[in-house]
Order: sequence, then structure tokens, then C-alpha cells
Amino acid sequence: MVYPRNVESKNLKKIYSLFTEQKTLTRGDIVSKTGLTYPTVGKMIDKLLDEELITWQGMTKSTGGRRAEKYKINNQRLLVVGMTLKLNRVGMSLSSLNGEVIRKKGYLIDYQGDLVVNLTKILKEFLSESDQLANKILGLSISFPGIVNKLQSKAVYSTILKVTNLQLKDWLEQEFSFPVWLENDVNLMAMGESYFSRINYQKGLLYIFWETGIGSAMMFAQDLVNNEFAGQLGHVVVQPQGELCFCGKRGCLETVLSPAILINQVKTRLASQVKSSLHRYDPVTLIDVLKEAEKGDSLGEVVLDKIENSLGLALANYIELFDPDLLILNGEIFHRVPFLVNRLKEYINSRIMFKGLRRLKIKSSQLGDQAELLGLLVLLKQKELANKLDSLFGYS
Ligand SMILES: [Zn+2]
Repeated sequence: MVYPRNVESKNLKKIYSLFTEQKTLTRGDIVSKTGLTYPTVGKMIDKLLDEELITWQGMTKSTGGRRAEKYKINNQRLLVVGMTLKLNRVGMSLSSLNGEVIRKKGYLIDYQGDLVVNLTKILKEFLSESDQLANKILGLSISFPGIVNKLQSKAVYSTILKVTNLQLKDWLEQEFSFPVWLENDVNLMAMGESYFSRINYQKGLLYIFWETGIGSAMMFAQDLVNNEFAGQLGHVVVQPQGELCFCGKRGCLETVLSPAILINQVKTRLASQVKSSLHRYDPVTLIDVLKEAEKGDSLGEVVLDKIENSLGLALANYIELFDPDLLILNGEIFHRVPFLVNRLKEYINSRIMFKGLRRLKIKSSQLGDQAELLGLLVLLKQKELANKLDSLFGYS
């Protein structure tokens, strides 16, 4: 048996969710997008207006027929607090549910100090700089650059932060009155990109982020592949006899692709007076090296070959195993050097079977830096929005 209150709660969530995705909506828009009737939509709009979750936005322009009333989300009513944990610093953000960042601030932190005390202090200070936040905060969403145990909501391990087994959710929920969730940083980027850039994929999305280390995330039908230790692309072995990695294995992708190591190799070659257009760069960066490779510099080509034969190879193998139809490359290097994306595309396509049948698309990220912040929003929406609406409207 279906209870009318459950149906009402479901309809209300469906409609509010649409408002978080669209600039403005009329009753007619909602009817056509949801298949609900005009009276139902009207009733739900009234409820959302009463709770100030949406606001009236004027009338549509006349196109001959009747003008319709437009509504939009009230982007001050429910807010997500975001926390991104990075090397030596914490990024804090306050965002509305439609992706608008209201305020951002960075703080220095020592992860080896008393983390509960330090994170609590940062959060309190950040929140105290906004007025009247009570009842508006949907929750706190944390981005962790390492392994997250989702069942226990525990930050298991991060080589960047040099921390293990942090009970961040438990600690912070004891200090604050709102719910806390955490997720791996690259998983969040994939969620943000998948949700906000309206990218199309039917089967699966493989998402790569390359900065100092390299991480990956995989989504099937909008859902993350959530196995605890999955996505360790940086520790896929590409040179069995290669350099020792900090993880204890030899020849991991990260030991080949570390920008610092690649640049050191370039400097050694330059010092041995090899002929190269890279002599005029001081200091030389990986972006310079790849841009010169595009112009035909032979030392640049050596580095590019290394990237293709390690990252390209690992990605081709990944694709062969999981058959995603979209690969997104995020990180400054892909953004600044489109040539690298094109070369990887060619390399990967030449090393996978059935490439004509797969219709694999390989692109650089549309959202760049924003992907992680937007992912924090998506996480809280998925985990807490339904509960929050149920409690606001007395459905729970
Ligand atoms: Zn490793």
C-alpha cells in the first residue's frame, strides 16, 4: 500500500531537486519535466514558497499565450559547508545547493598537531564570519586526499597529509549540530563533473586527476565505484624493475610520472649540453617541456614518450578492463597542454580492442578546480537533502 504522505514527500523532493538544477522554472516546466499534474505541482510550489526554499521570480515574457509565473531556488536557505584537506592547508567554502559558492577561505594547518582541536577551531572561525547560519546548514562535506572507508566514514590513509585512521565524522559531529560526510578528493571531482557539467556517458565514466600524484575515480550510471582501495591508478605498476615507490612496490605509475622527477631528468639532460630549445627556460616546468615537445623539441619528445608509455598504457589497460565510454582528464597540465590530451587519445586508441565499436570519448575537464567543490555539494545532496526536506515538512 502506498501512503499519500510518502507520495507527497517524493513529489516535493523531485520538484525541489529540479530547482537546484535549473535557473528558473514555471509550473508548466515542472509538469513537463516530472509528469505530475498542475494541481499537484501548484500545491508543492506553495509549500516550497512557505518554507522559503524557492522565491517568486516574476513572469515569463509574453509569446502570444498567457504569461506564466517563474520561480527560482532561494540560494540562501540551505547551505553546504565544504572542507578540502590539502598539504599544510584547509580550504573552507559555503555554497548554495545550485552550485553558487557564497564564501571561500583558506587556513594553514599542521596535520601532526591535535587535529580535532585545530579543525574545530577553523570551522568555528569560518562559520562565525557569516550571520544567521543556524537552520540553514545542510551539513559539512569533507574532501580527503587519500583512502576513505565509507562504511565507517573514516579517513583511512593519506600519503600527502601523512595521517592514518581519522574519525573525522565522529569527531566533528560531536562538536557541531550538523551532519558530516567525507569522500576521496578524486571521487568528489568525478561526482561534481558528472552532475554539474552535464557530461554524457551511457556506460561508465573514468576520471583522472594528475597533479603531484595521480588518482582516478570510476562511475557507472551516476554511481561511484566505492570499493575502499579502488582507484589507486598511481600505484599501478608500469615498470616492474623501476624505481622504489613510497608504497613499497617498484615501478608504480607515480614513480614515473612525478613532475619533480620528470623535471630533474630534463635538467640532467640539459646539464649534459644536449641540444634543446628548453635551455632558455629557467626554471623549466613540465608545461614548458610539453609545449616544446609539441613544436618538435627532441628532449620534450622523450618526456612525452615517457608519459604516453606509462600513463597512456595504464589508461588503455583500465579501459580494456572496464569499458567506460568517457574518460575525463583533470589537472592543470591537461588544461594547459591540449596537445598532451590529443597525444594520449591517439596512444590509447591504438592500444585498445574494438575501438570503432566502443565510441570512447576522451576529454579534459570542463570544471577544472571547481569540480571538487561542486562534488562536495553533490555528496551532501545525496546524503542529507531528502532527510532535511522530510524534517522541514514533517514527513519523517
Ligand atoms: Zn606505489
